[in-house]
Amino acid sequence: MSQGVDDIAAGLVSVAKSFHARGWLLGTSGNLSAVVQRQPLQIAMSPSGVDKGELRTDQLLSIDENARILGQQGGKPSDESLLHIRIVKERGAGAVLHTHSIWNTILSDIYARDGGLRIEGYEMLKGLQGVRTHEHAEWLPIVENSQDMPALAETVGETLNKHPTAHGFLLRRHGLYSWGENLAQAKRHIEIFEFLLETIGRTLRIREHAIRENATWL
Ligand SMILES: [Zn+2]
Repeated sequence: MSQGVDDIAAGLVSVAKSFHARGWLLGTSGNLSAVVQRQPLQIAMSPSGVDKGELRTDQLLSIDENARILGQQGGKPSDESLLHIRIVKERGAGAVLHTHSIWNTILSDIYARDGGLRIEGYEMLKGLQGVRTHEHAEWLPIVENSQDMPALAETVGETLNKHPTAHGFLLRRHGLYSWGENLAQAKRHIEIFEFLLETIGRTLRIREHAIRENATWL
């Protein structure tokens, strides 16, 4: 492998361990990818069924734009590789990250009937690329989950086109996708969204308790 690929693999492993430690990639869930080259497209992708807390650089797979493994590597690419490829193509992303946290799973269900979640007024929004003020309103679309990956990739593509400024989306009762121009930016976006989703989820719970208690600060 060239130095560039080694660096990309080391970066993906580092992010995987960091996210796993925070409970966002438990039970082999979630997946990570980064673009190695664009013409023809080559993506470094986490394999299916591997504990992300124990991920090694030699387990990462190189796949093409059809999610086929390049070279003689063993292992199976993640089932969700087609979603990563679609995001790379639609957004020109350099890295795509997907987490299964408790809070993103809960909120992806609570707000599903609205088709998305509006996040507004939080300072942490400024961590999303291009956002300069806490007054920004971020629409986080929610897509119905499916095991039919080609069909789900189509739906994701349509959602990205419909919401060209979105920095991520949720799959219902499943998880969060976000991306960036590079791995560092994609990691930052996931951290921002996970922070905001947990904040919103905890606020809902506190507010519900306060309503029961007739709190005066409501
Ligand atoms: Zn998933």
